Amino acid sequence: MGEMHELRCSDCGYGNKFYLGIGMLYSSERLFYDDRPSLNEVVQNKEITDEALKLIQTGSKVDDGYGKRLYACPNDFYLFDRFYFKIGDMEPEYPCPYRDGILKRVDFSKAGPGTTELKFVDGTGFWKCPRCGNNSMNELSFGNWD
Ligand SMILES: [Zn+2]
Ligand SMILES: [Zn+2]
Repeated sequence: MGEMHELRCSDCGYGNKFYLGIGMLYSSERLFYDDRPSLNEVVQNKEITDEALKLIQTGSKVDDGYGKRLYACPNDFYLFDRFYFKIGDMEPEYPCPYRDGILKRVDFSKAGPGTTELKFVDGTGFWKCPRCGNNSMNELSFGNWD
């Protein structure tokens, strides 16, 4: 079961609901190894899917830690949930919908009760709100999804 996070900038309210983790239909068999793998349903990017399935066909293994993760654009800081996976050396590179860069993973970094900050997983610093520049967010609700 996945986790639902509703994140809102504590100053201006920018944010969204994000669906993270893995759902019931996300078995590795179904996503990666089936006769007709459903990977593109969660990736929604044919180039990335084709590259991944080609690697699997040539014997590369999928790491266990796949699932929906929080991503942000390093240029405009808009947030997205996208499907993360790793096959050999390949990790998906999702283009920002605003076409100014490749989305990078961000992780939660607890700031205080009920608030969180987000930092880029590659160590390039903290996320900040695309609208107002603040970097603390309220976690409004939290639930599960399947
Ligand atoms: Zn803000
Ligand atoms: Zn962008």
